[in-house]
Amino acid sequence: MDRRRAEGDGEGRFARERERMVAEQVAGRGIADERVLAAMRRVPRHRFVQEGLHGFAYGDRPLPIGEEQTISQPYMVGLMTSLLELTGREKVLEIGTGSGYQTAVLAELARRVCSIERLPRLAERARATLEALGYANVWIRVGNGALGWPDEAPFDRILVTAGGPDVPPPLLQQLAEGGRMVIPVGTADSQVLTLVERVRGEIRTRPHGECKFVRLVGKYAWEG
Ligand code: SAH
Repeated sequence: MDRRRAEGDGEGRFARERERMVAEQVAGRGIADERVLAAMRRVPRHRFVQEGLHGFAYGDRPLPIGEEQTISQPYMVGLMTSLLELTGREKVLEIGTGSGYQTAVLAELARRVCSIERLPRLAERARATLEALGYANVWIRVGNGALGWPDEAPFDRILVTAGGPDVPPPLLQQLAEGGRMVIPVGTADSQVLTLVERVRGEIRTRPHGECKFVRLVGKYAWEG
């Protein structure tokens, strides 16, 4: 078998695993937003983990991505993305780029994604992966995402993929009127996935179940 053929077979296997991941772990657990399901069928999740873990990329769990961080469980990505109710027109701020997998799912569904990662090595790798896959509507920068991205604010949607003790005030300030933010809030060990909406100037929050994320670190979050 020549090399191209072998690679083709590999991609075919990943595509089948991806179909199954979406059917069983995401749609099968109640995520009904067809656009979200379609985006998760498209994004090659294995490309966001190191090669030794490719075989586990479509499993029902988070995986290590180095620097003591993790790529979120597929179901959690589906749940958070569907809570954002993206239509394709939004400017989205993401905090915690990590592997860039969630960033890619957002890039499939929104107009533009600004993503902030605290650890330069992860930011660099995510940028390279997203570029190799051809995502042109993503901007990544290194810094404390709890401070937001003032030059690009306001944002129609904000997604925080690390858990903090509270909603960082700068993120509330940078949420547009009619905007939605999804953020895990709680202790370092356990958080509540929280939906924050700004409706006619008023802030409303609603809980959406328990979750466990790595820590959001820095000012307005946990001490490094
Ligand atoms: N969405 C990512 C999940 C990454 S885990 C994925 O799909 O791969 C959470 C990430 O948040 C980690 O990479 C961590 O370094 C980053 N992080 C933690 N605190 C942060 C902060 N204050 N600002 C930006 N990124 C932060």
